[in-house]
Amino acid sequence: MQPLQQAFPLEPLARSRQKQPMAKLYFHYSTMNAGKSTVLLQASHNYRERGMDTYLLTARLDTRAGEGRIASRIGIGCEADMFDTDSDLFEMLRTRTRKGTVACVFVDEAQFLTPDQVWQLARAVDDLNLPVMCYGLRVDFRGELFPGSATLLAIADEMREVRTICFCGKKATMVVRQGPDGKVLREGAQVQIGGNETYVTMCRKHWREAIGDRQPGRG
Ligand SMILES: [Zn+2]
Repeated sequence: MQPLQQAFPLEPLARSRQKQPMAKLYFHYSTMNAGKSTVLLQASHNYRERGMDTYLLTARLDTRAGEGRIASRIGIGCEADMFDTDSDLFEMLRTRTRKGTVACVFVDEAQFLTPDQVWQLARAVDDLNLPVMCYGLRVDFRGELFPGSATLLAIADEMREVRTICFCGKKATMVVRQGPDGKVLREGAQVQIGGNETYVTMCRKHWREAIGDRQPGRG
């Protein structure tokens, strides 16, 4: 009995410290076509279902879903505000929170954030105590980090991988860009808008094979 009685007075203190949990900056990363937007929309829905407001942001250059909308390939979508490279995200989030309490901020296409904008989000987390969940691609078709993703990988409090698979069944972490003729492209702009290219997600081994980087005679 003695240890239990000693522990008991500590309980209310511990609970009061937990009352206002510290907000965090999250990075949910994946390769293309893994269902990031679906995961984002579901998470936002879970908040709204419980009567909590969320604030959604997406990149202006991604207008596949239409201006100011996040849509997933399985057919669900939601209105969102847009950011471009000039947006001050700290100011956008501060302005939004003045209009009403926001339980969580969701950022889609986070690979298109500039490093400065990732720091603006980090300031909103730390100084406004606003949880921010970013969803984005880790690497481009050349196997190189997007600048926004590089900064998120560096400073996010928590990271989670949204998984998808290669045709071989292994986890896909890479993506190849194919031209209209189906040929694999090795060079080109990191961001290609409105082209006829298609993207195929693969594990690293099959990505290396696809881009022609595989040592002869090896598995
Ligand atoms: Zn594979």
